[in-house]
Amino acid sequence: MTLTPEEIFEKSGTVLKGHFNLASGLHSSVYWEKFRVLQYPEYTRALCRLIADHYRIEKIEVVAGPTTGGVILAYETARQLGVRGIFAEKEPGSELRSFRRDFEIGSGERVLIVDDILTTGKSISEVLAAVASTGGKVVGIGVMVDRSETPIDFGVPFFSCLKVQAEAYRPDACPLCAQGVPLVHRGTSTPQSPK
Ligand SMILES: [Zn+2]
Repeated sequence: MTLTPEEIFEKSGTVLKGHFNLASGLHSSVYWEKFRVLQYPEYTRALCRLIADHYRIEKIEVVAGPTTGGVILAYETARQLGVRGIFAEKEPGSELRSFRRDFEIGSGERVLIVDDILTTGKSISEVLAAVASTGGKVVGIGVMVDRSETPIDFGVPFFSCLKVQAEAYRPDACPLCAQGVPLVHRGTSTPQSPK
């Protein structure tokens, strides 16, 4: 039996309900804990298959993602496409991302960028910049979940396994704050440096 993305996120408990302070500084009643799903290889494989199948005709030569969740997604999507999987990470003391560890992208190589949860598009934009600095050609972007508030145009084809409605509030307009619901901080980032 093949599970839908909704069923996979449900079964893995990826969608947490409560009152959360997001990396963006906004508040939400929903938090996506991506590593709840990424810890299951069979679920990760199923989601990456959707991305791999969507771009299979594009003759992808390398799959690249941002740390940390993107490492797993790039690896598994690349495995299914039979190509290399690499990741871009923050340079020490900088907001820029680059390919370190002797990762290389040849000039004109066809690159698929993958990521877990799309919210602001910041991480993907940073990987786009990192690929551009190598001369590689980005032929598409694939994400597990698109929870962006408004569609983001990255200038290349985009695919998401699941599109969900973003529900986020400025702290001064948050109905949960108004109800006095305790605020929970989640994620590994501070509001000043998302992801
Ligand atoms: Zn709030």
